[in-house]
Amino acid sequence: MQAHLQALHLPLRHPFTLGNGSSRTHTAIALLRLEMENSSGYGEAAMPPYLPENQETIRDFYQKIDLRKIKYPFDFETIHADLNRQVPGNTMAKAALDIALHDIWGKRERKALFELLRTNPLQTKETACTIGIADPELIQQKTKEAADFKYLKIKLGAPNDKELIQTIRTCTNKALYTDVNGGWTDREYALDMAYWLQEQGVSILEQPFEKSRIGDLAWLKARSPIPIFADESCQNLDDIPKMVDSVDGINIKLMKCGGIYPAMGLFQAAKAAGLKTLLGCMTETSCATYAALSIAALADYVDIDGPWMLAEQPFERPALEAGQLLCSKEPGLGLRQIAKNAT
Ligand code: MG
Repeated sequence: MQAHLQALHLPLRHPFTLGNGSSRTHTAIALLRLEMENSSGYGEAAMPPYLPENQETIRDFYQKIDLRKIKYPFDFETIHADLNRQVPGNTMAKAALDIALHDIWGKRERKALFELLRTNPLQTKETACTIGIADPELIQQKTKEAADFKYLKIKLGAPNDKELIQTIRTCTNKALYTDVNGGWTDREYALDMAYWLQEQGVSILEQPFEKSRIGDLAWLKARSPIPIFADESCQNLDDIPKMVDSVDGINIKLMKCGGIYPAMGLFQAAKAAGLKTLLGCMTETSCATYAALSIAALADYVDIDGPWMLAEQPFERPALEAGQLLCSKEPGLGLRQIAKNAT
C-alpha cells in the first residue's frame, strides 16, 4: 500500500469569518491517493487554521505509520485501534486514510459506499448551507446564492449578531441553524439570544461558549427554548458521557473523529445516550463530502455543504435536489475529477 499526498491551497468563494475570530480566503486540504495492488482510492484531510493539524503534520503522520503493517485493509476497527495506539490525535490525517480505504473497498466490491455501509439515502435530511460572518451586503448575496438549499446555518459571535439575522430575514423565511463557534462569553446574554433566536425561526444553537465551558452549556441547555448543540466540546466517544446532561445534541464531523468508521460509532453512541446528531463538515472538497454523505442518513440534521464554499476544487460536487445532496451510485466514493481545462 502506498500513500501519495498532494497539498492543496484552495480559494474560497467568499472570505469565511467565524465567531472564534478566525477569517480566511483560502483553505488547506491534503489530498491522499492510496494505491493498493490494482486499486486506488482518494481521501482528504481538511484543515481549518484554528486547529493544530497542517500540511506538515499530515506528512509527518504518513512518515510515522507503516502502511505495510495493515494486514486487513477493510478491518476498520483494528486499523483505527492500531493507529490510535501508534499516533494519538491527528484525526484529519486518519480521516484521509479511512476515507481512501473505504473508497478502495467500494471499488473492489463494485458497490456504492452507502450500500456497503447499509445506510438508506432516502432517509437523508436536506443539508444546510453555511453563511459566515460578513457585512450585510455580502450576507444578502450569500443568502441569495443559497437559493437551492432548504436550511441555512448562520455563523454568529460577532458584535452585531442580531443585525446578521435581521439581514437574512429581509431575504428569506427559511429555517435557520446558528453556530457561535465559542464566540460568546456571557451566559445571560446567551440565554436572551436563545429566546430572541427562537422568535426568528432558529431551530439550533451550536457551541455558544468556548469548548471547555461544559458547565455553562448545561446551564444554558436547562433554560434555552431551542436545542443546544456541542461541536468543539465534543470530539470523540470519550466526550459523550459529559455531553448527556450538557447539550441536546452533538455535531459529528469526519475530520474531528478520524473518518467514516469512528463517525458511525459516534452516531451509535449519541443515539444510545439520547443525544440528537448533526452531521457537519469543515471547508472540504467533494471527496470528504461524498464520504460523509454515505452515512448522512444516520443524522437528525445535515450540514455538509463544504464544496459549495470553494471557488475551485478537484472533483465534481454531489447533485443537489430539493435541498438534499444525493449519494453517488458508483462504486466507492463515486468521485469524478473536474477536467483541468474545464471552465
Ligand atoms: Mg460548528
